[in-house]
Amino acid sequence: VRSIGEGVRAWRKEAGLSLGALACKLSVFEDELSALEHDERLITADEIRLLEVILGIDGRRLTVHAELTATAQRLRGQINSRPSENSAEDTTDPFLAHPRARSKRSRRHIEQIATGIRSFLPIPKHGRIRTLELFERLDEIVLMIRGQEYRADYAVRPLAPAVEARTRASRKPGLLEIAVSPKTYDNIERGYPRTLFTVCHEIGHLFLHRDELMALEPDDPTPLDGIPPYWRTEWQADAFAAAIISPFDEVLRLHDAIGSLSPTDVQREFGCSYHAAEHRLITLDRLAPGRIRRSNLQLHIPFASEPPPG
Ligand SMILES: [Zn+2]
Repeated sequence: VRSIGEGVRAWRKEAGLSLGALACKLSVFEDELSALEHDERLITADEIRLLEVILGIDGRRLTVHAELTATAQRLRGQINSRPSENSAEDTTDPFLAHPRARSKRSRRHIEQIATGIRSFLPIPKHGRIRTLELFERLDEIVLMIRGQEYRADYAVRPLAPAVEARTRASRKPGLLEIAVSPKTYDNIERGYPRTLFTVCHEIGHLFLHRDELMALEPDDPTPLDGIPPYWRTEWQADAFAAAIISPFDEVLRLHDAIGSLSPTDVQREFGCSYHAAEHRLITLDRLAPGRIRRSNLQLHIPFASEPPPG
């Protein structure tokens, strides 16, 4: 066995478990386990513990792997002892990465996850999402984290200045809370397109950063210098929000119906801001070069008295 991923795959096969079966036991998505088996992401300390139990392996055999150690060391400059509800030993765990950059995810991977998750969200199958309805139905979302059930909830509460929204594990057990500031809630009610991105960004944290949500201080001030964007939780949540609001295949369907697309078309169809629509077209062009023909119509429709982003 030459890598952590190969090791996990070998032990899984030895135990006669399918990818889906082990993913289920680890409370991760199949593609997350697949990414682990292909060494596309780091294994977490929790996963090592669970694997030890499920596959009957010695966790040390996994943890001594040279490449993983090297990665951990490379990150250690940024590593902070993340407070954890699990145990004191967690704070010395070599696999603790930066609390705001714990595992890398490619944009393609995030698009994939978002496509899978969209069908579980209380939103229409196609077309535009109504932000207020989505926000006030967040309590319909139930997640399994490490075998424990968590319910999402929404709240409006004063947040730090310039913070529009944030997602946290609530003090109440089994609850994950997406809170928005009173100002943001006001903007949601007024139907400002920007708030759709804000809420979907937080939902991204809910699904992508479940471990971080369990930590006590996700706002860790350790600088992110030198950490590539795809490791960063903020970048990942942004990519997730864009994919949830305007899924790739739906943008393509719209494109093929019209014959070309402008940001204004995307904005009208999906109810996002012009800025988000423009950004989405640039991203999709990178994912599938030449697939989308851009139209010259660049009509900017600002929402009446929409506050500037920030
Ligand atoms: Zn965020």
